[in-house]
Amino acid sequence: MPEGDSLHRAARRLQPLVGQRLAAESPHPRAQVTGVAPRIDGLVLESVEAVGKNLLLRFEGGVVVRSHLRMSGRWRLERRDAPRVGSPWLVLRGEELEGVLWNGPVLSLDARPVRRLGQDLLADEFDVAAAVTRLRGAGDRPLGEALQDQRLVAGIGNMWMAEALWEIRVSPWVRVGDADDESLADAVGAARRLMRAALESGRPGRNVYRRAGRPCLRCGTIVRSRGQGDANRTAYWCPGCQMPAQAGAGPPGS
Ligand SMILES: [Zn+2]
Repeated sequence: MPEGDSLHRAARRLQPLVGQRLAAESPHPRAQVTGVAPRIDGLVLESVEAVGKNLLLRFEGGVVVRSHLRMSGRWRLERRDAPRVGSPWLVLRGEELEGVLWNGPVLSLDARPVRRLGQDLLADEFDVAAAVTRLRGAGDRPLGEALQDQRLVAGIGNMWMAEALWEIRVSPWVRVGDADDESLADAVGAARRLMRAALESGRPGRNVYRRAGRPCLRCGTIVRSRGQGDANRTAYWCPGCQMPAQAGAGPPGS
């Protein structure tokens, strides 16, 4: 699952096209039905911005295209008319380069879903206190699940959730209602720090994600994993050093 830092990298990759009048086409039949390409063909691209896990491409005349990559989508910047096998979802052809969207499962002229998102964790300006207040809206849900609710804070997927909570030694199974403000602020702050570092280096450092059954790098306890939340995304945590904020903060049935 591409997380917020992947989307920010994609936004950076496409910057050379900003300011250009682009020819747009959708070779993929499923993308043709979105009606996006004819709507933006011949327009000047004014900006490309990542918001949470969405990419927003703003064109002249107030036309906004929203691209969400889900599991499989990918934006590339290629030389114009580079040889290509397969049918991309969208090709944005500039003077010398073209932006190519492969397997873009969500391509839409409706940017409204983005307005319902929480703050983008990787935005230059980020209000931690406001994010904590919004997280409180998760009530009794486990912290690991709440951190991935894009309406509360946008950009975190299960990898950065696991890494951020390992970093601050808090279990993903702690109920938000039982966590103090400091823990919530620490969780958001750690995710932001780790993701910004990965955005710059392009190399996510992993300490706990996908390490189930192996010893914790910090304390040697065996790392555990278990599906969490309605989406059943896998949480990874160390029961030895990621402390519950109170007794009984383990996964259900443990
Ligand atoms: Zn540990």
